[in-house]
Amino acid sequence: MKCDILITDILLLPEPGTGVPEADSFIAIAAGRIQATGPMRELAKAGARARTTIDGCGMLAMPGLVNGHCHAAMTLFRGLADDLDLATWLNEHIFPAEARHVSPEMVYRCSLLAAAEMLLSGTTCVADGYFFETEAARAFADAGMRAIAAQGIVDFPAPGVPDPAGNLEAAAAFLDAWSGRDPRILPALFAHAPYTCSATTLRRAKALASERGVPLFIHVAETANEAAMIAEPLADSPIRHLDALGILDEATVLVHCVWTDDQDLDILARRGARVVSCPRSNLKLASGIADLTAMGRRAIPVALGTDGAASNNGLDLFGEMDTCAKIQKIRAMDPVAMPAREVLAMATHGHGLPGLPGGLGRLAPGCPADLVLVDIEQPHLQPFHGPDLLVYAATGGDVRTVIVDGRIVVRDRRLLTMDLEAVMAGVRAMRVRDDTATGPAGTNNA
Ligand SMILES: [Zn+2]
Repeated sequence: MKCDILITDILLLPEPGTGVPEADSFIAIAAGRIQATGPMRELAKAGARARTTIDGCGMLAMPGLVNGHCHAAMTLFRGLADDLDLATWLNEHIFPAEARHVSPEMVYRCSLLAAAEMLLSGTTCVADGYFFETEAARAFADAGMRAIAAQGIVDFPAPGVPDPAGNLEAAAAFLDAWSGRDPRILPALFAHAPYTCSATTLRRAKALASERGVPLFIHVAETANEAAMIAEPLADSPIRHLDALGILDEATVLVHCVWTDDQDLDILARRGARVVSCPRSNLKLASGIADLTAMGRRAIPVALGTDGAASNNGLDLFGEMDTCAKIQKIRAMDPVAMPAREVLAMATHGHGLPGLPGGLGRLAPGCPADLVLVDIEQPHLQPFHGPDLLVYAATGGDVRTVIVDGRIVVRDRRLLTMDLEAVMAGVRAMRVRDDTATGPAGTNNA
């Protein structure tokens, strides 16, 4: 058997959620896919030859994590304005900071920093949405990540789109530029929210997305008073408003969905729409806790996301999994709610995201070779009784090696696709100041 990469003597978790770890296993990778897996004794019989061999002793191999929602470039605003409600944070701090600081160069550099943070903590795929998204897509491609990159659409002057009347044209140009350009980058659209996009804009955005066969992302039902913020509501809840616009289907991804009722969730199930939950951002902004148990009962596909580094403030999906499982238990006041294996499946399959390659989230022959090797020979992971520890005890810092699309991008905690010191220095040099802040937040990076 000939392959590109051979991983030996590994504890293999083939499918989080259903599979159990298999000790003393091997993984053979060829042409970006898992070629074969099995016990080491079979490998000896097959006599494998590989260009690169990784000794997996003391490590667990699991599918790479999928970050269902991020604004990668917002790493620049990490820690700039904390401890605020969503409206104050967004209108008085983030939107003004974006107006001053967002440029193509900023988006490229800061997205590269986010990609570094994500890869080093085991995230192999991200669904991102921002302005100048072509620069974010370029950063993900250069970093060696898999990504859905979505161009932002709003009805006010935005970075790169000074006249909102041109927001759909800019979005179409982005899709033109990235369609078929890189097999790991899927271009998409991101309409900011029903309170920042008019009914006409949302209908046109969905029409463009459908015509090009790409997903449409939108923040929705994030806070309790969102319905009151929609200028011309067609219904009495944000989700029913979107449904009345006719934009909900299997290629529409609704980010947050914290404030939903049974009628909303029945609509999502009927339309086949997908959800991304961002628990840490929802907690920090005190937005609320999405009812993932009720979504699970309706088989609504849900992915896990971090949201941007300005509202989280990190992009470590291991921590996000831990938070997700625990707050769902508190929401239901039931320790059995949202078991670790379900969160692990949610964070690796990317079921809440349309357009990703089939087989993502499984380490079996024919599946994409997107995987991470976790160093489990550490005090906080011993004895390793099972994969639940990946949710309740592991952190992104335990990730040792990362492979995306059959390419090693992190080896022994070292990022191979970029000069990390230079990337961090470049972002530090941007010197961001929050002119509106009066407290310590205003002194950050200033
Ligand atoms: Zn967001």
